[in-house]
Parts: sequence; structure tokens; C-alpha cells
Amino acid sequence: SYEHSSHNEKLAFIGRIATGVTHEIKNPLTSLKGFVQLQEDEQKYNQKHSKIMLQELDRLTIIVNDLMILGKPQAINLKSIDLYECVRYVVDLFQQEAENKQITIYTHFEEQGQVLGDAGRIKQVLLNILKNAIEAMPSGGEVRIKLVKDQEWTTVQIIDRGIGIPEKDIPNLEKAFYSTKENGTGLGLMVSYKIIEEHRGKIRIDSEVGVGTTFSLCFPTPN
Ligand code: ADP
Ligand code: MG
Repeated sequence: SYEHSSHNEKLAFIGRIATGVTHEIKNPLTSLKGFVQLQEDEQKYNQKHSKIMLQELDRLTIIVNDLMILGKPQAINLKSIDLYECVRYVVDLFQQEAENKQITIYTHFEEQGQVLGDAGRIKQVLLNILKNAIEAMPSGGEVRIKLVKDQEWTTVQIIDRGIGIPEKDIPNLEKAFYSTKENGTGLGLMVSYKIIEEHRGKIRIDSEVGVGTTFSLCFPTPN
């Protein structure tokens, strides 16, 4: 019956979340445990270790936040917000990691980026997209974040010079748990699409293998 299959589908979905996410959670936990143990030996412990621990905690926070969006759909709270503030907040979070990877993040906001949105969730989208951009550039480079605006759409573009995405794979990006990474969850884009849909926006992807990728997050321009 329909009831039956929908129950099975739900179980399958939960199973895939559990499998996909367990690895992603286990790795930072293992490394955090190692560093906490190292802390017992004060001579060997240094500031670099604290930094890594903070990064691992950030990774865990991203995963848990993504899971929360999927788990319980809460009513979205739309207010007038400034996209530039959201971008600045997320860029600051990644500044250290980017520096370590020889990546420079530039932001160009020549116009007001005021839209109706939920700042917390938009930050989460930006975080997922910027994280992917950084992960796509293993040998460093530049990420540019721009605001483009017309009467209909206010768009944040995240432009990387990374590995790119083959055209045939682009339709997969919207699918649940799609990942090409060894330790990927495939949660980031799934959650991002969901959040942008809640804003009545859209995501556009332009990419070329070996050249780079542009993610355009389009929000309705308020009138
Ligand atoms: P994850 O990062 O855990 O793999 P995501 O949902 O964030 O999951 O991304 C899904 C997939 O989309 C990635 O595994 C990768 O193949 C592709 N992808 C996303 N963003 C980029 C990018 N900027 N450059 C290249 N590939 C990307
Ligand atoms: Mg990702």
C-alpha cells in the first residue's frame, strides 16, 4: 500500500542519513579526542592544536545544523536583512582555513543587498557553498563573492577557480546525499536548495571543468 511504501521510504532515507553522516561525525570526534589527550602533555600541546580543535568543532556544528534543517521543518521567519552582513559573517568564519590553504576570499558589494530572509539560514547556505568552493581548490587560489541586482532578483555569486563540475553531473547536485568526496555527506547542497526554496529564490550553477564554478543564489528583490 501507499502507507507501507512511504514508511519504507522514510526508513531508507533515515538509513542513508545515518550512514552518510556517521563518517563525517566520527572523523572530527576522533581527532578531537586525540588532541584532548595530547593536552594532558603540556609540553607537546600548542596553539596549533587548539586551532585544529576549533575547526573540527565548526565542522561538527555545520553537520548538526544541516541535519536540523532536514529533521524538523520550522516556519521560516522572513525579515528585512542585509546579505552583505551574512556574507561578512561567513567569510570571517573561513578566514583562517582559507589562509591555511592559500586561498584569498574577495567580496564585492557595490549595491545594497537588502532582501527578505532568515539571516541564520542564509548564513548556513553561504557556509555550505563557500566550504565547497574552498574544497574545490586544493592548490589554493581566489574565491570572489559578488552581489548582482536587478528589479526582479538580488543575487549573491560565489565564484571559485576550482576543479569545476562536469555538465552531466549538475542535475545530480539537487539530489539527496550526492557527493563526489571521500568524506562528503552530500547534505550541504540538499539543505541549501531547501532553504533557498523557502525564500522563493533559486540557485543557478555555471561551471567548467578545470576552470571553476559559480553558484548564484537568487533572492526576490523586495519592492
Ligand atoms: P559534500 O560537500 O559533502 O560532498 P555537498 O552537497 O556540499 O556535499 O556537494 C555535493 C557535491 O557537489 C560535491 O561532492 C561536489 O561533487 C559538488 N560540488 C559542489 N560545489 C562544488 C564546487 N564549488 N566545485 C566543484 N564541485 C562542487
Ligand atoms: Mg559540501
